[in-house]
Amino acid sequence: MKNHFADVILPFAIRAGFTYMVPEQLLDSVRPGVRVLVQLGNRRIFTAIVSSVHDKAPASGTPREILKVLDQAPLVNETQLKLWTWIAEYYMCYPGEVLKAALPSAFFLEGMTSEPIAEKFRPKTETFVGLSTTFTDGELNNILDGLARAQKQYEVMASWLRISGYPEGSGDMQVRLSTILKDSGASMASVRALEKKNILSIITRETGRLENFGNETGPPKVLSSAQLTALDRIKLLFSAKDIVLLHGITSSGKTEIYIHLIDEVLRRGKQVLYLLPEIGLTAQIILRLRKHFGDATGIYHSKFNDAEKVEIYKKVAGQDPSSGYRLILGVRSALFLPFSDLGLVIVDEEQDTSFKQHDPAPRYHARDSAIILAGLHKAKVLLGSASPSIESYGNALSGKYGLVELTERYGKIKLPGIIIANAREARRKKLMVSYFTPELLEAMDRALGNGEQIILFQNRRGFAPYIECSECGWIPKCVQCSVSLTYHRLINSLVCHYCGHSTPMVSRCPSCNSTALLTRGFGTEKIEEEIKIVFPSARVARLDQDTTKGKNSFDKLIKTFEDGKTDILIGTQMISKGLDFENLTVVGILNADNLLNFPDFRAHERSFQMMEQVSGRAGRRSKTGTVIIQTSDPGNRIIRLVTRHDYKTMYRIQAEERKDFNYPPFCRMIRISLKHKNRALLNEFSDKAGRGLRELFGKRVLGPEYPLVSQVQQWYIKTILIKLERKLPVTGSKKLIGEVIEKIEKEKGASALRIAVDVDPY
Ligand code: ADP
Ligand code: ZN
Ligand code: ZN
Repeated sequence: MKNHFADVILPFAIRAGFTYMVPEQLLDSVRPGVRVLVQLGNRRIFTAIVSSVHDKAPASGTPREILKVLDQAPLVNETQLKLWTWIAEYYMCYPGEVLKAALPSAFFLEGMTSEPIAEKFRPKTETFVGLSTTFTDGELNNILDGLARAQKQYEVMASWLRISGYPEGSGDMQVRLSTILKDSGASMASVRALEKKNILSIITRETGRLENFGNETGPPKVLSSAQLTALDRIKLLFSAKDIVLLHGITSSGKTEIYIHLIDEVLRRGKQVLYLLPEIGLTAQIILRLRKHFGDATGIYHSKFNDAEKVEIYKKVAGQDPSSGYRLILGVRSALFLPFSDLGLVIVDEEQDTSFKQHDPAPRYHARDSAIILAGLHKAKVLLGSASPSIESYGNALSGKYGLVELTERYGKIKLPGIIIANAREARRKKLMVSYFTPELLEAMDRALGNGEQIILFQNRRGFAPYIECSECGWIPKCVQCSVSLTYHRLINSLVCHYCGHSTPMVSRCPSCNSTALLTRGFGTEKIEEEIKIVFPSARVARLDQDTTKGKNSFDKLIKTFEDGKTDILIGTQMISKGLDFENLTVVGILNADNLLNFPDFRAHERSFQMMEQVSGRAGRRSKTGTVIIQTSDPGNRIIRLVTRHDYKTMYRIQAEERKDFNYPPFCRMIRISLKHKNRALLNEFSDKAGRGLRELFGKRVLGPEYPLVSQVQQWYIKTILIKLERKLPVTGSKKLIGEVIEKIEKEKGASALRIAVDVDPY
């Protein structure tokens, strides 16, 4: 019985692989990677992906038959299936969870009771307006004159002429109907009237949801000699190593080097994947790449809707090199696209923590997974960063990765001068104005006087991190999480930053009835308000999660700043990445202390990276910038290192500390979180898990403990940390850990227990 059985992956968290029988008439069409319909349980029909076809009958029972095959060609190629398997095994999750992260959900139909007929995905159509025929200039003038008494129709024509760029293009120029209506303010009736007069024609056609950018591309920029040396070294190293780390200071021109490399790889007919952190994917970088690679550039991020994702997926899978995407610029999930022939993977800002997915599973790290993906394609990997992760730099020093350093900025622009402003001292001497030290105020005054721009960085959004009753010390807390609520002035509410729960601001303390409620600490919203008081004539804007909820709001705020219509931009870490502003000369870091004091073994590394990155925004082109770091601890070692841009010492100190205290990369860390709504049961189960794990791993097990935030949305949380030696065979250990968890999950009363495993947690 050859190929009469198929293993499939179902799109949910389910332990075992499922084997189905392949009926005779489907023998030719059931292949790995195709979607099939299968029945599971009572009449419920699901879409699944075939992972393998074989002739081994399952040990027990007779498998059900596959009902239908949905794809002629595999939707998922063999390399993708291999990557999925690696991710499921390494990150200790189910293949179905990987599948759900990897494919747009429109490819799936879940829990149907009868066989579905239509796919969820439909091509998009749009309506365009064009001239009904070619007119001479004279004819067009006559037409416009003739519309003198039909004002609205005249407006429609004027809009069309302006937007189409007439007469630059060809005769069949078309403009979106919606654009014309919006621009002219006219109604559909006016457009119809022009159609009746045989002046305009209205056409509906299939457009796809993705924008087209044309193929007018230019050659890459000529590299400086420092860039050329770096590029040559990267290429040389690639002949011996698969992975190279490019450590180049901010604005050293790393992106231009990437562009040259991409160009060469595309010319060889191979594909390129360019990964960026979630908030690094801005209009600026997209434009820079599209200028060189035109329509071959696909973009992939989480704000695309499902139908758009399906189109991108299909354009990557396309076998036709003339119409498909050859270069994908995307966030972490882009690594799941159906690449057939990758030649190069670039991971820019490789140290960025947004490459690690926290929730839900798969809790994968995109940089590390991309290295595996590249290995499957025999492609090269270039990691780029201004301040690399301790992990990657360590790998470069040990010779596992090649290392290339770029120590000067493009155009030999000086790195910004960094001033440490002692906020404690200034407060004592009563020199602070609101939250601003004299040093910062002076620099801002000067910049505003010169017509230059300023960025203020505060890594907390909202108005005040918490509210406190000055009489009795009461602090409002979230009803379902163990955290204090952040006051948001604009909506006059108290908001939980963990679960989003919000309640109206109170005017009296519910505990002692006092009205003396104080706001404590400061977030971006408060800074914005204070800045408007201190600099009343400056144009101020704020960039954080609250002001960028709309799809294009981030790009709009950036564009306004770029165009010089904002003088002072206040923001969270969102402003720290990949942005390049001509006229920005002053960057203020308002409170370095709350970065540094975060209780996590990576806090110092991250503070350094964040401060370096934010500083890197200042003085990127012709002007030298100034960075002012406000702190109550001016002697702090990390801040001192930032002032000297001394990455190497930072690395040395952090690496030593991690070795002394046995943290990654000197050990492998696995974190197990257990959640239950009942605190007593949570304690019982987590103690059991702890005991079970200790029997196997002894002192390598830490906890169970309540984490910093021990309750979220009514779920109590406890965590267990396991630190394994690097040389221990990790696959075997993971299997044992999995068995302990499985045993706990099967216990009585454990059905309401949630267990999450995070391998290499961030
Ligand atoms: P990085 O990625 O290292 O931060 P970028 O590649 O963004 O640096 O370069 C910083 C600035 O210098 C950008 O405005 C970029 O256009 C410009 N630049 C870099 N290299 C060149 C070059 N070879 N020719 C012209 N402009 C360049
Ligand atoms: Zn009170
Ligand atoms: Zn909450």
